Order: sequence, then C-alpha cells, then structure tokens
Amino acid sequence: MMSRFLRTVFTGLAGLAMTVPAVAQTSMRPTDMSTDEAGMWYQVDKIEQQIKTAGVRVTDPQLVQYVQDVTCKVTGPDCPQIRPYIINAGVFNASMYPNGMMLVNSGLLLRAENEAQLACVIGHEYGHFKELHSLERWRKAKSLANASIFLQLAAGAAGAGGEAGYGVQLMTVLLQQSFSREHEREADKIGFETAAAAGYDVAECADVWTNIISEQESSTFRKVRKRGKGINIFSSHPVPKERAETLAAMAEATPGGEDIGKVEHAAATDKFYAQWLETELLAKDYDRHIHLYNQLKARGRSSGPSDYYIGEAYRKRKEDGDRERAVAAWEAAAAAPGAPAQVWRSLGEHYRRTKQKPQALNAYRKYLAAAPAAPDRELIAAYIDRLTP
Ligand SMILES: [Zn+2]
Repeated sequence: MMSRFLRTVFTGLAGLAMTVPAVAQTSMRPTDMSTDEAGMWYQVDKIEQQIKTAGVRVTDPQLVQYVQDVTCKVTGPDCPQIRPYIINAGVFNASMYPNGMMLVNSGLLLRAENEAQLACVIGHEYGHFKELHSLERWRKAKSLANASIFLQLAAGAAGAGGEAGYGVQLMTVLLQQSFSREHEREADKIGFETAAAAGYDVAECADVWTNIISEQESSTFRKVRKRGKGINIFSSHPVPKERAETLAAMAEATPGGEDIGKVEHAAATDKFYAQWLETELLAKDYDRHIHLYNQLKARGRSSGPSDYYIGEAYRKRKEDGDRERAVAAWEAAAAAPGAPAQVWRSLGEHYRRTKQKPQALNAYRKYLAAAPAAPDRELIAAYIDRLTP
C-alpha cells in the first residue's frame, strides 16, 4: 500500500536526501543485486535516516513500543530486520520498503479495532518484504514499459545531479509503481498466516476490509475515485470486497488463536484519538468522516471526541440542516466524558451568533476553564466581557 500523500512526502524527502552526507547502511541487502539496485537500496536507507527526524513521525515511546511489539510477534525471527515508523497521516495505509523500513500511518492505527487487525496488516506488509516484492517490482519496471523512462532519467541525471541524482530519480519512479494484484494477494496470505501463527484471532483480518468498504462507500469522492483520480490507495489492489471474502474463507478453514487485543490497542492509541480525528478532516471528505466517526463511536471509542468531530465535520460540510446537526453533536459531546475543550468554544460561537447570551457566556467560561492556555484566550475573554450583563 502507498498513498499519494506519502509519495509526496517521499519525493520531498528523496530531494532532501541528496544534500545530506552519506550514512551507514542500516539494512541487510541481498547479494545478487545489480549496481542500480544497490543504488536504489542505498537511497531507501538514506530516506530512512530522514524519516527518523521528520516532523511527520510519531515518536511517543508507548505507541512506538506497541507497534514494535506487534511487528515482532508477527515477523518472529525476522523481527530485527523490520523497522516500523509511525507517520502522522490520516489515511488508512502502511507501506514496506525493500530495506526493512515499514511505515504505519496513524490513519491505520485509528481504524484498527484491535491488535489482531493491526497484526493482519503488519503481516501483510511483512509479506511484501519476505517475498522481495519491491525488488521484483523494481526489476519489472526497469525491464518493461518503463525502460524508456529509466533511460531518460539516466541521461538527465548524468547531466544534472550525477550518480546521486540518478539514484534519487530512480527512487521516485519506484515509489510511483504499485504492487501487482498478485503480490497483494500473496502478501494478504502471508499476513494471515503469520498473524495466525502468532496466536491472533484471524477472523479479524476480513473485518479490516469490511470496515474500509463501508467507509469508502460513504465517500463524497467515490465516483471520482472510481475513475482513478483523487486519493486512491486501492486502485491497484484486489478490490476490498474480494480481499474480505478471501480472508473470511481462510479464517473458516484455518482458525488462528484467540488473541484479539482490543484493550491493548485502546491503551496504546486512546490518547491520540482526538488528534487523529482532527487529522482526518484535512481530507475534506466530510460524508466519509462523519461515517467513520460514527463507526468508531459505535465500536466503543470515546464518545466525547467522536461527537465533537462529527459536529466539526457537519460545520465544515455546510449542507442544509448541517448547522443544527453540528450543534446537536457538540451538545452531545459536551455532555459526554473526554470531550475536547474546543467543544465549548464551538458551542459559545453558535450561541453568540444566535443571540443566546447566557448560554454563550456559560460556554465561553467553560472553554477557558478547560483550556486556560488557549491561544485565542484574549479574544474569548473579550467576548465574555461583552456578554456579561
Ligand atoms: Zn500491499
């Protein structure tokens, strides 16, 4: 899996990589690689060095340890070769690189209902690594349709950035390729088998995709996606329905263990819940966001943040009746545990605009009480002054 967002990040990082000094190898290379493959590998190692200090990386020790532990449970003896990094990005995605670098989006951690579901996806990414899919993809891209691109890149790079430029551009081309459906099916199978061997309840693997299907179907941009434009992480993959069905059939035939790990997953991810809901909103796919937030709430995630961000999605969507829906959601959030302080600001704003002065005053006071260091403190204090009878 690889999202356009990450491709953008990586293209940028690949550019940065040209300016940093050479770094030590961090990964074990196969011995039969050609010179340009070795160059590609070296570039991925350099990108990994960049990722380690990039602002998009989530470094919370407890969360990092949790993802690392699940990775080790699934990959067994290969654990030392796989290095997971958590990236703050609101898309369901994870991706694997030939050198063992694995990127796990916060959007995946948000959507996984439990540890078993996360294990299925990490196992899938491990499958790409184990079967050397990146290398195969690289070789195929080079030998077939992209031969002319590679020649152009080589010619351009020879004039411009020399060998370093060549490596970076090859890397960019590689990242624009997707794994074939055959590779995806193979990775799904390995993901399932490794999660089962680690004792996870593998009936959960199919649910990952069932949840994604219902989220996709709610998307405003769904038609656009079907034409292959917009944000589409699924176009090159077997359709989620086929994956869900295949994985469900596999779970019938080969039950894994009983480990689901819902409590463990919540313990590691709960403190990021509100932040990740907010990150999702950047995609501006409000129908989908509302669907996802309701889905998460129904699965038992904290209703305070869920309702607050459902309200925010309505406020931003601006369809007929959305203002009323937003207010109802904020009021529900305010009455629930764990609501972010901003719910009082949103309610204060609404009451002030609709001339409900006592309610506005009350809400603004609660906001400042809940967030004494709020950046808009002075503005809110001025409103409170004006509203005080
Ligand atoms: Zn994949």
